[in-house]
Amino acid sequence: MTDECDFRVTLLGTGVPVPSPERFGPSTLIEAGDQKLLIDAGRGATIRLYQLKVPIGRIDALLLTHYHSDHTCGIPDVWLTGWLESYFGTRKTPFRVIGPTGAVTLMSHLEQAYAADIKIRAADEKLPLEGIGISVTEYERDGVVYEKNGVKVVAFEVDHGDVIKPAYGYRIEFGGRVAVISGDTRYNPNVIKYGAGADLLVHEVAAARPELMKEAYVQRIIGHHATPREAGLVFAVTKPKLAAFTHVVQLASDRIPPPTLDDMVAETRQTYDGPLQIGQDLMCFEIGERITVRCY
Ligand SMILES: [Zn+2]
Ligand SMILES: [Zn+2]
Repeated sequence: MTDECDFRVTLLGTGVPVPSPERFGPSTLIEAGDQKLLIDAGRGATIRLYQLKVPIGRIDALLLTHYHSDHTCGIPDVWLTGWLESYFGTRKTPFRVIGPTGAVTLMSHLEQAYAADIKIRAADEKLPLEGIGISVTEYERDGVVYEKNGVKVVAFEVDHGDVIKPAYGYRIEFGGRVAVISGDTRYNPNVIKYGAGADLLVHEVAAARPELMKEAYVQRIIGHHATPREAGLVFAVTKPKLAAFTHVVQLASDRIPPPTLDDMVAETRQTYDGPLQIGQDLMCFEIGERITVRCY
């Protein structure tokens, strides 16, 4: 990583529930000044942090968007592995978690589920109990949820479907620059509202070939997400310096192949003609005067 840029967004996992080795579960690393924040911890988040040489215990806070398992199943790994004494762990202070209503329940049950491991490692490896503690903050409406050393994070409600609540996105402000992460949402004006002035706008996306769109289950899934065309509408109004896709849903069946990334770009271009990047795992956006894209 270059040292000149002190505000970076790295896509750790750009996938969905599909256990793909190319696209790990949803997780995004925010590095701003001396702060390192994780947004969601999907499958494999620790592996991606390891690849970046970011000690897992170095994460200052985990921010959750919603409680679909693909966004949360990596939490115990981040929490427990980050506690280990090795160079990739090293957390000595409580694991900080910030999320909408539900975070306390989730984390307290994880503490119960892993009680035996914690007891064993504390006795055997003499790991400090302080480092496996959990500090949870829940919120239930739009507003500032994190503020430290010049980094401000604002949570905003999004629309992931009528029963998938709560669901939030995040706006991260640092040094006069702004990155916005949509979270899982269908087309939603709140993303436009909180996306105002964004340098980088990272939006989720879901697509299927027209033949597959006739299937009821496909309509249900697409109905919880934004199509490339709809995400393009959000980008066209907010006009970020760079728009990027993550959480790339490419629906397929045994007969009908998934839409290609080119298909998805073409559909986005029906509504948006500005700078666009389709995210991939370990793609890093350096947010300076300009936005530089690197792939690790
Ligand atoms: Zn979801
Ligand atoms: Zn999701």
